[in-house]
This record gives sequence, C-alpha cells and structure tokens, in this order.
Amino acid sequence: MIIEKTASLALRCSDCGKLETHKLNIFHLSGDNKLYLDCECGHNKIEVRRSGGDFIVSPYCLACGRYHKISIPEKRVWNVSRVQTLSCPRTRLNLGYYGPFSLLQHEIDRQQRELELLTDGLGFDDFADPKVMLTALDILHDFAARGDLNCECGSREVHIELLSEQIVLTCQVCAGGLSIPASSPHDINRLESFDNLLLRYRTNTSPHNSGP
Ligand SMILES: [Zn+2]
Ligand SMILES: [Zn+2]
Ligand SMILES: [Zn+2]
Repeated sequence: MIIEKTASLALRCSDCGKLETHKLNIFHLSGDNKLYLDCECGHNKIEVRRSGGDFIVSPYCLACGRYHKISIPEKRVWNVSRVQTLSCPRTRLNLGYYGPFSLLQHEIDRQQRELELLTDGLGFDDFADPKVMLTALDILHDFAARGDLNCECGSREVHIELLSEQIVLTCQVCAGGLSIPASSPHDINRLESFDNLLLRYRTNTSPHNSGP
C-alpha cells in the first residue's frame, strides 16, 4: 500500500497580508522540483523544495526585511498530527504554520475571529498596511506571552484595539495606556527593538484617556 504523504502550509502574504493555507503533496516535490506558492493577490509567497531529507522553505520576514531559509526534517512535515510553527530564527516571530489541513484551517478561523474582536468593525483592507498591522499584533502577543507587556500599575490585563494605523493598548484596571504605531515596516523594527512594553498612567497618547 502506498501511503500518500501530504502536508499543508499556512502563510501570511508579505505583500497583502492575507493568511491562506496551501496543500502540499510529496508528488509535487519529487526530484528537484521546486514549488512556488502564490497568494490570491498574485504575489509569490514562498518557494518550497526538498533536499537531503529536509523540507526547505523561504518565507519573507517583515521584522528582518528579508527571506529566511528554514530547513525542517521531512519526518516533521509529512502526515503529522499537530500544527507546527514556522518562526523567524532571529526574533522567533511567527511566519506561518504547517501541519494537517483541517487543523490549520481551524487555526486560521480562530485568528480571524480574534481579529474581528480586536478591530471593532474595521476590515482587513481598512488597515494602512495589513501585513504591518498583523505582524505588530504577533509581536505584541509575543511580548504578552513572555510577561513583557504590563501596565505601570502592575496589571497585565491589557485590552488591545486595532485602528487603521496604530494599536491602542489600554489597561483594564487603571487609566494606563499606550499607542503603538503600526503602518510601516519601520514601526515593526522599532517595536521589535523594545525589551518590554509598559503602559503608562496619564502620560500616554491613548485616545481612551483624557490625558493629564
Ligand atoms: Zn497577497
Ligand atoms: Zn526574521
Ligand atoms: Zn494599569
């Protein structure tokens, strides 16, 4: 019996920011075949190939401003049962996912719902630069996961709202807040250079606060 080897790859387009899932089959990648995966906007997202038992992908990283070449042992790609993360080797920023198609779809749907909750009616195309906005959000999630997103009152309960050109963070406990510009790749580099983010009481520019 031939067991078909399949995998799926979910990547955000570095041009328009859309996250889409692509199905891969080992027969697409036989011999020296390279596979180019395109976004529905027409942008070439990634090159996929196999070499010496590894699966090699080259996603574009917005934080580093370049393509990363990432090798994954093939046994961790084909017919796996869990969703795995592709990350930037320098910043650990999430660049995409691979794993079973149905679970990837589930993950994308979850992110989509989360995004809707954070945007209060704003659509994907309302962002000044969707890929910058979504990358900034990923970076904020990393800060939060590390415990490096706090308010100066000591709270870690931070409300996130995405506006078209910035992310507004508001403390759920006090009037602390912080606005993060997120409209250009420069904003990503700046955000990524911080060790931690501190919401400040009264001295911030958040529109949710009336100021000093
Ligand atoms: Zn695209
Ligand atoms: Zn990178
Ligand atoms: Zn606070």
